[in-house]
Parts: sequence; C-alpha cells; structure tokens
Amino acid sequence: MSRHNRILFAGDPHGNFNPLIAAVHKHRPEAVILLGDYDLAVPLESCLQEIVDLTEIWWIAGNHDFESIDKYNNLFNSAFSDKNLHLKVTEIAGLRIAGLGGIFLGRVWYPPQQPKWPGKQHYLQNQSAKIKHANDLPLKYKSAIWHDEFEALKTLKADILVSHEAPGSHRHGFKVIGELAAAMGVKHIFHGHLHENYAGIIKNNIKVRGVANGAVTDLLGNMLSEK
Ligand SMILES: [Zn+2]
Repeated sequence: MSRHNRILFAGDPHGNFNPLIAAVHKHRPEAVILLGDYDLAVPLESCLQEIVDLTEIWWIAGNHDFESIDKYNNLFNSAFSDKNLHLKVTEIAGLRIAGLGGIFLGRVWYPPQQPKWPGKQHYLQNQSAKIKHANDLPLKYKSAIWHDEFEALKTLKADILVSHEAPGSHRHGFKVIGELAAAMGVKHIFHGHLHENYAGIIKNNIKVRGVANGAVTDLLGNMLSEK
C-alpha cells in the first residue's frame, strides 16, 4: 500500500478526540476512520471541528454509542450521519473499506452459538404492535450484529474490514469476523473495543490490528499516537 498514512484509524475515543486531531494535523491523511465508542455529549461534528476541513471523516458505531438516546443521536443524527460504514463497502482513498459496527449480543446472536433471531424483521414481527418498525427497535437491539445482515455483507468484496468487535486473533474475539473477512477477500482488519494495541495474523494470512482506546494507527498498523 503506497502512502500508508493516507488513511488513519482511531481506536475508541470515549470522549477524547485530541489524539486523533493531533494526528490529522501532523500526518494530513486523506481520510480518518473511527472504530466506535465515542461517548458523545455533543454531536460528533462539534468534537471534530478542527479537522473537518482537513480530511474525510468516516465511522462505525461501537456499543457505548447505544447507551443513551443522546449518545445515539449525537452520532447517528450528527452532521456525519451519512459517513457510517456499517454493512457496506465504501471506496476511501482508493481502497475498498468494509464496515461492521456494533457488537454480538446474547439475546440476538452470540457466535459460535446459533442466532436467537435470524434478522431484525423476524424479531420485530414477534414483538407487540408497539414495536413494528426497525426505527422503533430498542437501542440495545440496534447495537446488535444481526445474522442476516452479516451474511449479506459476506457477499461483497473489500480490501480492509473495520469492525468494533475483534476477530479470533484476540482472546475476546470472534472467529466469524475472520470468516467474514476471508469471504470478502479482505487483507487487513482494524478493530477497536478491547482497548489494546496489538498486531496479529489469522487464517488466509489476514493481518489484524487492534487499536487501543485513544490510539491512532496508519494503514501499516504503525502506532502514530498512544493513549
Ligand atoms: Zn466497545
């Protein structure tokens, strides 16, 4: 990969965006990708004002972003609402980036167990009349990785997968994330959530980089700022 700092990856900010802002000023990437868990007390754009004109800003959600309606709205209804990479492949700085936000939730799907619900629609159909639309899903359920959507993502091709959850390279990771990456032809995975900087390799020679909370890495996994 040429110009390995043209995309930077930011591990769980948990309210502190200063390391990312500093890294953008220093390295001037074409784009930054945020790996979830923002704990936003204000809309995301308010936290990133300093860099909004310097770089593209993309993100996936973590689990903390569903903890309250305010945290949720400050992300999903922010000025960057259309920069969510979840469940699609987006071309960024010449690379195809696949996104998988959220977490595996026991009451929805917790691999390697079978899914409790095959998908949101099935879940919604089995709820009271009050909850009939995906928009009405309880926040907790919105944070879940749903099996049918996960399988649909598998049919796409990408160079890099960004996820909040870890693949099997981490002791708290999930093998299915590696299987998703392999099916998509992905060469590199960047993930957050576990607050640990590490490099690993999984099946199909896929390189994994865990990015700690507040840390920033480039495309080669070089740590540009520590927490
Ligand atoms: Zn998390």
